[in-house]
Amino acid sequence: MESLQNHLKQFMNSKGFRETYLNLKQQIKSDKDVRLFLEKHKNQIDEHMIDRSLGKLYEFVTQSKFCRECRNLDECKNILKGYHPTLIIERKTIDLKYDKCPRKEAYDARKKQESLIKCMYVPKEILNAHLEDIDLNEPNRLKAVSLVQDFVEQYGQNDRLKGLYLYGSFGVGKTFILGAIANELAEKGVPSMLVYVPEFVRELKSALQDHSLNEKIDAVKKIPVLMLDDIGAESMSSWMRDDILGSILQFRMLENLPTFFTSNFNFSELEHHLTYSQKGEIEQLKAKRIMERIRFLAIPVELKGKNRRQE
Ligand code: ADP
Ligand code: MG
Repeated sequence: MESLQNHLKQFMNSKGFRETYLNLKQQIKSDKDVRLFLEKHKNQIDEHMIDRSLGKLYEFVTQSKFCRECRNLDECKNILKGYHPTLIIERKTIDLKYDKCPRKEAYDARKKQESLIKCMYVPKEILNAHLEDIDLNEPNRLKAVSLVQDFVEQYGQNDRLKGLYLYGSFGVGKTFILGAIANELAEKGVPSMLVYVPEFVRELKSALQDHSLNEKIDAVKKIPVLMLDDIGAESMSSWMRDDILGSILQFRMLENLPTFFTSNFNFSELEHHLTYSQKGEIEQLKAKRIMERIRFLAIPVELKGKNRRQE
């Protein structure tokens, strides 16, 4: 009885097999990306090398590249969901390198972003806010939205960008605009963080020595774009005002890190709020110092209009 090896040898040399093999090889070589790769590396690649690497080339051809053949990440058709191959030459053979595909990159960046925002006490629903949902006929919306668009456009090119200080009464949509800015920035790949100030201050107060809070203060200081929501709605001790808020703002000023604010107060009302500490001390100079930093960091825009929460 002939050995299995002989059988295989005969089969591989048979006319039918050779024809199928050559057909497949031709199909693979005529794939647009493969052709470009072979052309680019023609000095390093010969037929022998193609024969040896045909399995890898076949795998490459059957995978989707740059999300071209997948409708979304869930329906990614690749062997490793969310990863797409590039052809490379490794030790005289053609090999594949798998990297995250564009959709997976965007998904991961988004997840990272969302987790940062979530941990700072802002309701997740605010992440559904988009600039195009803002009614430009309402007072000052056009001004706010065009300043936001300028900001997003110039981010990364101009390192002295001012944020906005959006003020106005309860329910006019200040926090909503912050959510929309965060989304615009996320689309550009810029990390931002929304922090609801009253809750942040409360938590700092109740657990001063907590290690995770130090980490949070540090994250707030260093995030590329910070949004402090509802400043002035908290009750702040002198220590919180000068050593925490003051130092966060000082750091961001020196490092040219853009900062946005929302408040029910205009600048002079906020200064008044910051002047009177919980202990009843009157500290005008220290309040002025915080205000100088806020003015340096942000352009004030008043938002008027109806209270949307009563609808
Ligand atoms: P503020 O921060 O000024 O108190 P919010 O931003 O919280 O107000 O807005 C109040 C409510 O109205 C929220 O439920 C918010 O989602 C909704 N809202 C605000 N602006 C818009 C908008 N342009 N389109 C749809 N809903 C909005
Ligand atoms: Mg708000």
